[in-house]
Order: sequence, then structure tokens, then C-alpha cells
Amino acid sequence: MSTPRIEVDLRKIRHNTQTVVRRLKRRGINVTGVTKAVCGHPAVARAMLGGGALGLADARLSNVCRLRNAGITSPITLLRTPMLSQAALVVQVCEASYNTEMVVIAALAAAAVRHDTIHGIVLMVEMGDLREGILPEDLNSIAQQVVKMPGVAMKGIGANFACLSGIAPDAASMMAFSEIANDTAATCGPFFETVSGGNSASLPWALGELSIGYINDLRLGEAILLGVDPVSGDQIGGLFKDAFTLVAEVIETHKAAASPSASFAKQALTGHNLAPYRDEPSRLILAIGHQDTDILGLSMPSGTTMIGATSDHLVIGTNHSTLNVGSEMRFPMNYSALMRAMAAPDIKTAILSDRTIPRSQDIQVSSKHPALV
Ligand SMILES: *Cc1c(COP(=O)(O)O)cnc(C)c1O
Repeated sequence: MSTPRIEVDLRKIRHNTQTVVRRLKRRGINVTGVTKAVCGHPAVARAMLGGGALGLADARLSNVCRLRNAGITSPITLLRTPMLSQAALVVQVCEASYNTEMVVIAALAAAAVRHDTIHGIVLMVEMGDLREGILPEDLNSIAQQVVKMPGVAMKGIGANFACLSGIAPDAASMMAFSEIANDTAATCGPFFETVSGGNSASLPWALGELSIGYINDLRLGEAILLGVDPVSGDQIGGLFKDAFTLVAEVIETHKAAASPSASFAKQALTGHNLAPYRDEPSRLILAIGHQDTDILGLSMPSGTTMIGATSDHLVIGTNHSTLNVGSEMRFPMNYSALMRAMAAPDIKTAILSDRTIPRSQDIQVSSKHPALV
């Protein structure tokens, strides 16, 4: 297999989806699988659907087109408010979209009429994250305009938490959102098909004991793909954290105790303050760099430390004497590393699907993310 590559274990993604779907079902909440971190990779999307996600959602129309071109026919919602310039394509490839701007909704409606279709509108309400959304006091009048507009159907409302602010939603804000859904449905109902209570950051709330009110959907990417709560970084019980692994190749090795001048030369080369040689008997250079991924989002295997990185090189200290030029090293990734690696043109994806899944109690909790030293 070629390097660098991302190995994707679809069975782990299906297992993660099944697990959250089962737990949320007890609470009356459906799961929409979010594919943006994998650039709409069709096999990953199918694993989410196979695990019980009711539909898919992505932020970019290019990713939605990739899903459609691969033959995926499930409902797909555009998560980011559509670009005005893309309205005509949005109504052709997405059943629904999240919206915050009346001018865009009007363009979607006109395009839907032209294409003889009905496009679903979910209004995104600003609940304090300050990234996107309609202010709660403006929601009613916008919803009523949508209801009257031919070509579009008022499908529901959604909120987003912890994206820009990094603050997890609490019970009070979820209840406030639920009440807004109820009030808005009362004036333009009869009911909303979708009351979407947020992304993976809403999972701790959704899996808790408190009432979920009218919320009936969560849009989950990170929790399914990486098995973690995005706010705390904690592993979600029973989920795999290692469905994705980045594999990179060693292109240069150095035994320990290089002279200081060599070290200074490296410093000039990398632009980083290199740590002095420590316990690791050798240094390695791998053919991967900032242009490929978020290097700080890679977890270092035990016995290795990250020393520095440039656009195309990653320098690592290691006490694994078996690593030679041509050896492969494997790295778990966080969300930021994953989404950038998936989008990198030089990184291939290798789908693994026929390995047996270890039992949940065997799931390894990997070490903390490293920082540049
Ligand atoms: C990215 C995104 C999601 C999914 O977020 P995760 O943290 O990956 O679960 C949900 N909703 C919106 C609007 C998004 O942009």
C-alpha cells in the first residue's frame, strides 16, 4: 500500500454509529451522520448509514456531490448555510439545508420551483455559540415567511453549540432551545419534523438523565468517527477511538549524539526550536508535514517524541531501534489532523473492512496529544 495513507476501519465506524444510535433511540433522538471531516467519503458515509444513521449531512456541496456520484440516495442535508451562488445545485442534490438568510431561502425556493421539487428548510437558531444563526426573537417571522413560500417546506429548526465558543451546551440552553422549537411550531406548525439539538458536543447532555424536550435529532461527526466528546476530548464509553490511522514512511534516520552544529543546522532547516537530544537513541524523518495534516493533532506512539515539523517533514525522536528507512509509522489522529489529512491530495485512503472488531473492553485509550517541544 502507498504511503502516506489513512487506514479506515469501516467496521469500527459502523460499530460507533450503532452504539450511539441505540443509546439515543432510547431517548427519542435520531442520528444524522456528518461526513465533512472525511470530505464526504462514500464508504464512510455507507458505514454510518449501515450503523443506523437516518440521513447524512455535510457542510460542503462538493462533498455532497461526491456522495451522490457514488450512488448514495439517503437524505442529505447541507449543514452550512448555502452560498447564494450555489442555490440551484443545492436543491438538486440535497433534500434540505440549514439556513440563516432570507435572501438565500428565497433563492432556494425559486430554484426548487424551477426544478419542480420541494426543498426542506431547517432554520439555524443562534443559542450563544455566536457562529451562525437567527436570533430567537427573529425566528417566528422568518419561519412564517418560509411557510408561505412555494418551493420550500419548513422542516424544522436546529442549534449549534461549542463550535466557535468551545462551550458545551448545558441543560438550561437545551431546554430554552426546545421551548423555542415548540413556540415556533405552534405558530407555523403543526409540528417540526426536525428539532436538531446540535453536534457531538451535545451528546453528554443527550445521553444524560434530563428531559430532552422536543429535541429529536443530533448531527454527529466527531463522536462517530473518533469516539470522543469534542469538548473534553474524553473517550465515549464503548466507542472506538482508532477507526482512522495515519501511516507515514521513514525517509531518513540518525543515530544519537549528533554534534551541536548538526542540531543548529536542523534548527535552521525546520525553523523550530529543537529540543536537545534526550533519551531517544535515534531521530527519524518521516515524509509527511504541515501541508498534509495538523501535525500537532497526531498522537506519538510510545517510546517516541515529536521534535518538530516543516511543510513536508516530520522529525521524531525514538528509542525503537528497529525503525529504518522505508519503515512505516502509525499515528492516531485528532479531529483537526483527520479532516486535513482526508483533504490532502498526497494522502490516500485505504479502506479496511474485514478485520474482526475486538470487544469493547479491549479498546485502547491512547495517550494525550503531544505538543511541539
Ligand atoms: C460540523 C458540524 C456538525 C458536526 O459536528 P461534530 O462535532 O463533528 O459532531 C454538526 N452541525 C454543524 C452545523 C456542523 O457544522
